Parts: sequence; structure tokens; C-alpha cells
Amino acid sequence: MSTLGRLSINGSTRLAGIVGDPVSHSLSPALHNAAFAHLGLNMAYVPLPVSAAHLAPAIAGLRWLGFMGANVTVPHKTTVAPLLDELLGDAQALRAVNTIVVEDGRLIGHNTDVDGFTRAFTDVVPQGHAGGTALLMGAGGAARAAALGAVRLGFAHLLLVDRTPAAAESLAALVHELAGGTRCDVVSLSDLSAGHVRQATLVVNATTLGMSGQSKVPAALADNVGVDQIVYDLVYAEGLTDLTARARRQGSRVVDGLTMLVHQAAAAFQLWTGMPAPLEIMKRVLTG
Ligand code: NAP
Repeated sequence: MSTLGRLSINGSTRLAGIVGDPVSHSLSPALHNAAFAHLGLNMAYVPLPVSAAHLAPAIAGLRWLGFMGANVTVPHKTTVAPLLDELLGDAQALRAVNTIVVEDGRLIGHNTDVDGFTRAFTDVVPQGHAGGTALLMGAGGAARAAALGAVRLGFAHLLLVDRTPAAAESLAALVHELAGGTRCDVVSLSDLSAGHVRQATLVVNATTLGMSGQSKVPAALADNVGVDQIVYDLVYAEGLTDLTARARRQGSRVVDGLTMLVHQAAAAFQLWTGMPAPLEIMKRVLTG
């Protein structure tokens, strides 16, 4: 999709892009280019497909190619961290980066996924939430952001579920380091039961399950969400994902990955431009 609008590229255009593998499905170019065009900024945003083997030279290249910054997505959010000059705020806390700002030739890592996660939640649950259990499936970069986001939203107990229990244990250790008062339990995905799911007020999918070309979220989770629960799928798709569609049918309130995508993009936009993002324009790109 091209949403360049009245944006024209010339010799002074400032560039940003998305580094990931794959990136062809990414909606970020459409979001950012629409925002640049709306505000008349001489900036453009491009896809930057980079394999793990070429991540280090590609990231160094952002500096030499004069990029103002970049987003980082699957599978590089954690492996990019040691390649940067400095990590700030949530990126430093989580050792996961989704936004790079190039400042005076230095590569600064930020993480806007935590803000994106909490803001999208608050769009659906404006009264906020205090106490209760959040079940969080996944232990990668996005799950780190979701775990910190759930703590900030006031959840007192995290049930961390992953197919690799050691990965969930290390996420639990990180939560303990960042928010010692939050209780964390770890469950292997193969042991996930209806009881685990039903005790949670908030159920989050922060795995890649449900992305196009991947398997669906397992029935042990999807079959057991229902009324009085909030189901949050970080995976985004046009319309609903299999999980959010089922959750809606089963009476849950739903927070979708597209809303989080817009909020994390808006925060990255502000880091690059110093200006508030035109949120409604970005939302309109996704709703057509
Ligand atoms: P990642 O670091 O690669 O982590 C992937 C996670 O998925 C790991 O926990 C992995 O488990 C799990 N997983 C992968 N395949 C699986 C399978 N077959 N069965 C069970 N678990 C599986 O990726 P990420 O950066 O965290 O991203 C995860 C998802 O969040 C992606 O879909 C991404 O697009 C989405 N996301 C959305 C937003 C948004 O704004 N909406 C923001 C960030 C991320 P193991 O630990 O066992 O490997």
C-alpha cells in the first residue's frame, strides 16, 4: 500500500525504516508515510529486510547512510541491543529495542512497545485495572514489553506461559528485577490448562502464533477465554485474528494488535520528529 500522498522525495529527504525479517507484511511504512505527508514533513519510511546474519553491518549502515532512525521488528528486537551505542528508558530496562534514533552519529535504542501496549489497553479499558492476574503467552521481545506494560497497568500477578520454560523463567527473573512486588508463575505451554486461563483477568498472546503462515494460538488458550476477560493479541492482521475473533464470540473484551501498532508507531514518530504524531491519520490508514 502506498500512502505517500503529497510527500515527494528529493535530495534533502530524511529517511527512517523498519529492520526485520520478514518486513513485507509490515504496516509501519504506510502509517509513518501517511503521518509525514499529513504534516508536510520531508521524510520517508522504507522497508529494510535484514537477515540475522547481516544485522550488525545493516545497523551500522543506518549511521553512514544518514538515517534519522529505524524501527526494529521480529526477530531482531533483542539481538540489536548490543549493537547500539546507548539504550534508554524501557529499552535499557528490557534489553529489547523497537526504535533507534540516530543522534549526532550515535545509535540510541528506545522501546515504545511498552507505551503502545498500555495505551491500546487503556483505549479499551479506560477506567484502568488494579490487581488481578495477567496470563502472558510468549517470552520474546514483545512479551518483555507486555510484561512490563501489565505491571504498569496494575496487574499484581503474572502467569508466564511459553513453549520454552527456560525463556519464561528468564522473563520472570527480569520482572522480578524491575518490579519485585509482582508475583510471577511460569507454566510450560504444554501444561496450559483451562484453570490457568480462567483465573486471568487479562489474557495476552505475545507469541508469533496467529501471524499469517504460522499455526493458530492453541485451543487450550483460545477455547477457554470468555466473559469478564480481556483478550489482547499483539499479533496484528487485517480485521481480527483467529484468537480475537473467537474471544469476541465467547464474550471477551478485545484489545487488538493494530491499536497497539498505532500507539507504538506514534511514540516512535515523536522520538524522530520531536512532534506529536497525528494519531487519527495513522488510525485511518488501518481502517481504510
Ligand atoms: P520473538 O522475539 O521472535 O518471540 C517469539 C515468541 O513466540 C517466543 O516466545 C516464541 O517461543 C514464541 N513462538 C514462536 N513460534 C512458536 C510456536 N510454534 N509455538 C509456541 N510459541 C512460539 O518475537 P516478538 O518480537 O516477541 O513478536 C511476537 C509477536 O508480537 C509478533 O507477531 C509481532 O508482530 C507482534 N508484535 C506486535 C506489536 C504491535 O504493536 N501490535 C508490537 C510488537 C510485537 P520460544 O521462546 O519457545 O521461542
